[in-house]
Amino acid sequence: MSEAPDIEALDAEDALANRRADFLIPGGVIYLDGNSLGPLTVRARDRIACAVTDEWGAMLIRGWNEAGWFHAPQRVGDRIGRLVGAPPGSVTVADNTSTNVFKCLSAALAMRASRKVILSDSGNFPTDLYIASGLADGLGQGHELRIVAPEAVKAAIDDSVAVMMLTEVDYRTGRRHDMKRLTAKAHEAGALAMWDLAHSAGAFEVDLTGAGADFAVGCGYKYLNGGPGAPAFLYVRPELQEHVRPLIAGWMGHAAPFAFDLGYTPLEGIGRMRVGTPPVLSLAALDAALDLFDGVEMAAIRAKSVSLCETFIREVERLCAGHGLRLVSPRDPEIRGSQVSFAHTEGYAVMQALIARGVIGDFRAPDVMRFGFAPLYLSHREVAAAAAVLAEILETGSWDRPEFRARAAVT
Ligand SMILES: *Cc1c(COP(=O)(O)O)cnc(C)c1O
Repeated sequence: MSEAPDIEALDAEDALANRRADFLIPGGVIYLDGNSLGPLTVRARDRIACAVTDEWGAMLIRGWNEAGWFHAPQRVGDRIGRLVGAPPGSVTVADNTSTNVFKCLSAALAMRASRKVILSDSGNFPTDLYIASGLADGLGQGHELRIVAPEAVKAAIDDSVAVMMLTEVDYRTGRRHDMKRLTAKAHEAGALAMWDLAHSAGAFEVDLTGAGADFAVGCGYKYLNGGPGAPAFLYVRPELQEHVRPLIAGWMGHAAPFAFDLGYTPLEGIGRMRVGTPPVLSLAALDAALDLFDGVEMAAIRAKSVSLCETFIREVERLCAGHGLRLVSPRDPEIRGSQVSFAHTEGYAVMQALIARGVIGDFRAPDVMRFGFAPLYLSHREVAAAAAVLAEILETGSWDRPEFRARAAVT
């Protein structure tokens, strides 16, 4: 049995600890689900109140100009761009991630019209695969969605592939693809590379420019803490932007929306990927939540994330040995995102028991208990305490109750 790490020492040297006070996490809760829905911040709460009362309420339609609503998708997109290694003018906030997958994938396929294969993997999030398969059918041009195992992606890249469409971090296991290497391989084969950063943005350093990625999408409500239903973002490599012809050509992507021309002329740059009116109130919350990333290097966030995850794995394995838990995340942090997953045959009920004790993670079928680690508000002490609660639940069998076995609509 390994020694318990010196939890207090790890927290004492934590340079991000001062951000915690900005998060409104209920007392008694250890929140390990920020990878699914980031918590409310003081700033977002206050900003929404202001956007409702002082902007919508007082300015009415003048808010589009006077409160900067019209330019917010671009301005907030640039703020996210800084977190994912994208230059100003290459990221915009828009729609939700699913819709952005559709928009980016359709644009990418049109740029490789002679090729018919969309290559993805079985670790991708289902909505991305549904969108790709629906698009392939809907285009009626003989496109095929080819799904291989995550380890088989590299070998499956050949000159039939139009677009390699991957999610960097597997939502279930936390396994992380090598974005740079796979993008290079796709480019060698003449394919385009599109990345979903849902579990990457705000969790660790992403370098879209350095990796040469062509398209990317990601969520606003996970590690970016934009709130339920926050708008998502998308990226198009600057050199490609002028070649993108949006399949969903809407007025917010028009060069002159208020000229009300009958014909569509795309806006210069990334803005053409916008479609309709942005969700101004949600966007205000996302904008305010992003303040917490100001003055922080993503490298510092990553270092703490690794430390939190390592602490959790060590504590769970030390305290819960013999209780049927199996680490399904990679043990090597180099190939792991900011989450740790353990499989257990009664994973659903065990997770419900944990949640009842204030340790909030989530469950992914068939047997995965998933714990996300967001460095801006978690301490090592909380992570160790969560492991201790898990150990106690397994030790006492307190998970074995009908109310913990009853499945809710959202797991
Ligand atoms: C969470 C997640 C989504 C969610 O898409 P929405 O359209 O926002 O519901 C998409 N892709 C991945 C990889 C995700 O993890």
